[in-house]
Amino acid sequence: MKLAVVGMGNAGSKVTDRLLEFEADTGRSLVSSVLAINSASVDLARLSYVPSENRLLLGQTNQKVKGHGAGGDPDLGATVTRADMAEIERAMDGIPVHEIDGFLVVAGLGGGTGSGGAPVLARRLGEIYDEPVFGLGIIPGTDEGGRASLNAARSLQSFADATDNLIAFDNDAWRGTTDSLSAGYERTNWELARRMVTLLAAGEMDGSRISETAMDSSDIRRTLATGGISTVAYSEAPIEESTREQRSLLGRFSMNGDAGQSEGELATKVHGLVRKAVQSRLTCPAEVASAERSLIVISGPPEELSRKGLERSRKWLEEVTGSAETMAGDDPRDGAQALSAVVLLSNVTDVPRIDALQQQAVTAQENIDEQAHDRESEIEELVTDERGDLDPIT
Ligand code: GDP
Repeated sequence: MKLAVVGMGNAGSKVTDRLLEFEADTGRSLVSSVLAINSASVDLARLSYVPSENRLLLGQTNQKVKGHGAGGDPDLGATVTRADMAEIERAMDGIPVHEIDGFLVVAGLGGGTGSGGAPVLARRLGEIYDEPVFGLGIIPGTDEGGRASLNAARSLQSFADATDNLIAFDNDAWRGTTDSLSAGYERTNWELARRMVTLLAAGEMDGSRISETAMDSSDIRRTLATGGISTVAYSEAPIEESTREQRSLLGRFSMNGDAGQSEGELATKVHGLVRKAVQSRLTCPAEVASAERSLIVISGPPEELSRKGLERSRKWLEEVTGSAETMAGDDPRDGAQALSAVVLLSNVTDVPRIDALQQQAVTAQENIDEQAHDRESEIEELVTDERGDLDPIT
């Protein structure tokens, strides 16, 4: 697919920056236009791959913001996004809409600018353009506390509603035990970029040999057309230099109709990789069987791809998800160092992590209300004399 990508807030902008870096590193092409939007100028200045002219500072005239961010307040994030919408639309005016397959709005949901702004922007894009608007929403870790989970649970409701499909990424599932917070984010952002680009850029040719079973971007669009929330699985196996040489030799034989044992080996390898992907860490943990549609992309050097492996994997996933809407295709990349399997599980409805987030949010909201009430009576008590002998000045 070709997408216009908009990063909202700090996490949204950083992840967008990583998408561009991953593209540049692997020669893939997914992002045809890019915009990073934030209300904190220092964070915007730290990006490396988003060109300066594609960065937009929100809320400069808002007294509470003034270039310093929304302070973790999603209502303020939504307000400044609405107030500066004309400027955002102007910045997106140049997008060659006829060349893109959709929009992707990326945001961390636990803060202010992304949490509040991403749903407002996604809704507006849906009103203006016919192309689908996808979201990538980052769920805060449980240890970030009640306020972050409350922001995220509120944002999730509006973001899912405003997008054609919201791909979820759970920071909890990706937190390392030994990393510092920023090193951990760097690592997870890279893993996130790897999954998103490998999945969504499939079918965008880079001059590699095209296979008969190549993934088409319309299949990806169809899988995402369910709406709801989606999660992504990934696994890869490195290809040794010697194996690569051997395979390319065998590949030449196979064109002459004698692949023999190796085709079976390749099919087993592909199938094993897909199983491993689905059974390992998803971007957001979810019950695989609850997916409405799913899609497999196998990416790697053409001589490592296997039509039989693809079909076997598709059948297996069809059984696991219980959905006849299971597609599979490959994405040949000459000279790739690894064989990778990426699986999109679209419209998963059984997502315990989101239930837990909502619980944490409800508790946080109750505590906030209770504390506000207690504080009011404590102030009242503080400023009023004990026996009520004094009259306030009116
Ligand atoms: P905003 O600028 O007001 O939207 O807030 P931030 O983007 O700084 O933070 C919002 C949430 O995003 C936080 O609560 C974290 O859960 C998450 N977050 C912040 N930075 C990163 C990052 O670099 N990577 C990931 N995966 N999550 C992040």
